[in-house]
Amino acid sequence: MKATIISVGNELLSGMTTNTNLVEIARELFMLGIETTKSISVRDNKEDIHEALKHVKDDLLVLTGGLGPTHDDITKESVCDFYGLELTLHHETKTRIENYFARLGREMRDTNEKQAYFPKDAIVLNNNHGTAPGVIFSTNGITVVLLPGPPTEMRPMLSRVKTYLQERTDIRVYSSGYLVVGIGESELEAEMVDYYPKHPDVSIAPYAGLSQIRVVFIAHEAKPLERALDDFKKRFKPYIVGPYDTTIEQRLVETLMAQGKVISFAESCTGGMLTSTLINVPDASEVIKESHILYSNESKVKHLGLNRMIMERFGAVSEQCVYELAYHLAQRTDADITMSVSGIAGPSGGTAAKPVGTVYYGIHHEGKTKTYHRVFSGDRNMIRTKATVTGMALLLKALMHEDDDS
Ligand code: AMP
Ligand code: MG
Repeated sequence: MKATIISVGNELLSGMTTNTNLVEIARELFMLGIETTKSISVRDNKEDIHEALKHVKDDLLVLTGGLGPTHDDITKESVCDFYGLELTLHHETKTRIENYFARLGREMRDTNEKQAYFPKDAIVLNNNHGTAPGVIFSTNGITVVLLPGPPTEMRPMLSRVKTYLQERTDIRVYSSGYLVVGIGESELEAEMVDYYPKHPDVSIAPYAGLSQIRVVFIAHEAKPLERALDDFKKRFKPYIVGPYDTTIEQRLVETLMAQGKVISFAESCTGGMLTSTLINVPDASEVIKESHILYSNESKVKHLGLNRMIMERFGAVSEQCVYELAYHLAQRTDADITMSVSGIAGPSGGTAAKPVGTVYYGIHHEGKTKTYHRVFSGDRNMIRTKATVTGMALLLKALMHEDDDS
């Protein structure tokens, strides 16, 4: 089975909305072993939708957007018109939409009634987060799936579509992978030149982000997948921070919780980004003790008692400075692990010895203080993001006692 995805919505083409649905749908299909051959974005316009449908050559067609109640939401009507399908009232759905409004204490408007019309034999995908139901139907040998635009409404339906497709296709796929931090995409690729031929039955795709790469493995049988995963783990263990479908901040919170530890931060160049990223994880309150944003030299002296001489002699961006900060932070906050970070995010402030992108970290853990030095490329915010991701990876490795590269 192969797929075409059509995204409908004026907002996608005026640059007001990022097409995240495409990414999510394509990824979920990919994990099912269904390749997306084409993606088309069109306005909320019947002629444009028809034009896009002429290009569909695959046996699966997914459209998102334009299922709302207003006059500009015309995806379902346009698709059914193109394939010559009649729309009839689905009473159960009409009642569901009426009940949805009743729950909110509002009256259903006539415009919402059109959302209860579907082609014959269609499978209606109920919407618990809005009024627009999704739908699956077959026509001309194509399985057509219509999903609403709002990601919060689209997502739960997508998991129902996945179950539907899994039950009807005989493709069996096994997927897994790793989240990798601390190695560049080209470096990883170079290291894998002799790896790929050893695992011909596994499709391996690296997806690179800022300082992190998700390496996804897909195979039709379990054994080759297991072999490829083991081999990858042996080669790249120092860079692996968790499974591919997790986030590094989630891994860090989980690990701190499992070890019953709390953490404190002293952030300079990251300006709170480390703490803020960690706080995105629901259980962060269990593991974060306190966090200081100590941007000026003066604040480092005032709040953590850093020796002024150290900064005068070595500078705020130095191994000595982060060492002292991590150490003092541990003494003052009584956290089980502390991290200090100081660097030059740029664009100014770099020198030949310490170019823009230079970042020093200090970690105090189990009675020892260690320092780490990295140089990141990119603009100011890329450097700060990379410093944040790498800082979390260093903490994970320290907690796992795999931190031998200081
Ligand atoms: P709809 O009424 O189904 O057209 O959906 C409209 C809402 O969904 C708007 O708030 C859009 O910003 C959002 N939306 C529509 N299409 C997408 C998409 N492809 N990715 C992310 N959000 C979208
Ligand atoms: Mg729309």
